[in-house]
Amino acid sequence: MSGGLTRRVVVLRAAALAAPGGVLAATHVEEGDETAVALGYRHDSKQVDAAKFPKHQPAQHCANCAFFQGSPGDEWAGCAMFGRKQVAAGGWCNAWAPKPGA
Ligand code: SF4
Repeated sequence: MSGGLTRRVVVLRAAALAAPGGVLAATHVEEGDETAVALGYRHDSKQVDAAKFPKHQPAQHCANCAFFQGSPGDEWAGCAMFGRKQVAAGGWCNAWAPKPGA
């Protein structure tokens, strides 16, 4: 790698780290993503197909799921099921599990 290219990579990495939140802005999960489709993920828990996912309850959503990595009030946050992508606080998928102590 040439010195110029190395410098450019370092500058790009620094710019990414300086983005809001301190890291690259996280991408939101798309309902059409392969994992989202496999898990029946919807951005809005009310839109879950009850016939396909009979275990779904109206009170279940990402913000009260054990896998949601956000803080109370966060509209989007990471989820262990979706790697670096973020899910909606009001969303739901078939991996929903109750947050301990909730
Ligand atoms: Fe939402 Fe939990 Fe499914 Fe993640 S595992 S998408 S937080 S319901």
